[in-house]
Amino acid sequence: MRKRKKVIEEVDIEEYYRSLLPGMVYFSQGIPYMVKKRISRGNFHFILVEKLPLNFDVKSYVNKIEDVIILKIEEEKGFKDVTICKGRLKIVNNIHGFIVKGSHAKEYYEILKRYFSRLSTTVECKLIKLNDIELIKVEFFIPITYEFETEGVWFVFPDKIDIIPKIECEEFLTRIGEIDNTNNKNGKLIDFATSLYNSIHRKSLYLTYLGSTTHIIKLTIQKNLAKKDLDLDDNLPYYVKKLIDSKDGIGSGLHAIEHVIIKIAPIFTYVDSRELGGRSYSKYNKYPYNDKKIIFIYDANEGGVGLSEILYKNAETLLEKAYKHLTNCKCKDGCPYCIYSTKCGNFNEFLDKWQAIKILETILNTSKSK
Ligand SMILES: [Zn+2]
Ligand SMILES: [Zn+2]
Repeated sequence: MRKRKKVIEEVDIEEYYRSLLPGMVYFSQGIPYMVKKRISRGNFHFILVEKLPLNFDVKSYVNKIEDVIILKIEEEKGFKDVTICKGRLKIVNNIHGFIVKGSHAKEYYEILKRYFSRLSTTVECKLIKLNDIELIKVEFFIPITYEFETEGVWFVFPDKIDIIPKIECEEFLTRIGEIDNTNNKNGKLIDFATSLYNSIHRKSLYLTYLGSTTHIIKLTIQKNLAKKDLDLDDNLPYYVKKLIDSKDGIGSGLHAIEHVIIKIAPIFTYVDSRELGGRSYSKYNKYPYNDKKIIFIYDANEGGVGLSEILYKNAETLLEKAYKHLTNCKCKDGCPYCIYSTKCGNFNEFLDKWQAIKILETILNTSKSK
């Protein structure tokens, strides 16, 4: 029997690539659906979905790599040691798959497996288990690419900020050393922290665990501290984590600043932050900014609707306000108020609030810079 079909929602192209690829979970008015195939009729595309049990606790997150290409530099100005530009950009997204998290991940995995086995599609679907975490990782053998042109602003940061991850490493090692001293551990705590620093690599963990990477790192630190009877101070897990964070380099600090700028942009644009996208590079790989540290903020509407013009005019104040926003937030290591973003293409991984504050201090208050 053929079921009657009805339209439950209309979405734009960005939302389609973010949450409506086959196998993803889509929520409409609180009801979870599993996305099935797409049918196109001229310029209209219909996505067929199937209702999931109402209590299903699963969410899917697209796994994409985004690249920004500068098409034209229209304006440029300097502020302190930062070069600020405005121009035309091309945003290229390569979607490699998606992950599904939630307490019903295992049940959803069975549904997905059955669904994918009926398709002659080139997809790998795995259930990953580690400690208390279960997540589904779906990989497309051939990535889905979509690109569009728009307007954007970008900030080119000076090379002097490269020293910041090294300062971070030294600072947190010193703090760990102080706890070691206070508790007469004769360097045992330092040895422990250093061995975790050497053995935990976020970049390689991320390839498997994506958005659960930080959770796994925190669990590993806590379990090992308890096992060795070294849980001597409430701040210790955070200090060890920062030591490990410092290994990822300055990109995590730039990524955090990118999120903050997008978060506070509505004070000038008066439109929702979701109208903007961003991408930061610790080493941009294209002319004329080869190897430069850059944060791009772009208009997420194809062609641009004038938001970057407003951001460019207010760019200096944006950087100052980003610093205030970060320092006013009392959280230790980042939270949804300051640096987390529901739109982040990296699942809020490689985000470093401590570094972001240091970078902006270095830029805005040259007397503090090194
Ligand atoms: Zn915060
Ligand atoms: Zn992000």
